[in-house]
Amino acid sequence: MIPTHLGPAEHLFSAEEVEAAIRRMAVAMNKDLEPLTPHRPVVLLCVLTGAVVVVGQLMPHLHFPLVLDCVQVSRYGAETSGGTLQWRTRPKESLAGAVVLLVDDILDEGITLRSLQAYCAAEGAAAIHTAVMIRKTRPRAVEVPVDYVGLEVPDRFVFGYGLDARGLGRNAPGIFILPRDD
Ligand code: 5GP
Ligand code: MG
Ligand code: MG
Repeated sequence: MIPTHLGPAEHLFSAEEVEAAIRRMAVAMNKDLEPLTPHRPVVLLCVLTGAVVVVGQLMPHLHFPLVLDCVQVSRYGAETSGGTLQWRTRPKESLAGAVVLLVDDILDEGITLRSLQAYCAAEGAAAIHTAVMIRKTRPRAVEVPVDYVGLEVPDRFVFGYGLDARGLGRNAPGIFILPRDD
């Protein structure tokens, strides 16, 4: 039973499956990032709001020094072509010269993540590593370089584990698909 009022939903991944995927990402991140942090901590950028659960679960498994920061962006209106970000929260940490670990909930069209990567690069990040808990298996106009992927899902609207459906369902213990309207 899902603790939302969203009605019936198809269970795609259990909480155990998502947690195992997150632990696998952490192992890969430790291998890549531990050697890069002898002098300066990694800046972990949590993309609000959906990534809070994956970031919270990742962090106790990360063994390198890090500082946690958050960004929140939305796209202008319903525009899908451009990469213009509307900022709600900018990073507080300086990204100049920093190793950045950008963590988002889901890669769909990739516009948000690509814009954030460009922003980090423009701020002078020394390296940008990108992680998504979920990647949709769909064609993308421009492929987005992602270093760590937890799980792949079909091109359907999913929620749970931080991802919302009409504002609800972020606390659903696993990944679920909303039934189609048609
Ligand atoms: P983009 O298309 O730019 O990759 O995705 C932008 C944002 O749309 C994602 O970070 C996520 O917040 C939201 N999004 C995309 N697909 C889904 C989905 O299937 N479920 C939910 N809950 N959000 C999604
Ligand atoms: Mg998001
Ligand atoms: Mg959303």
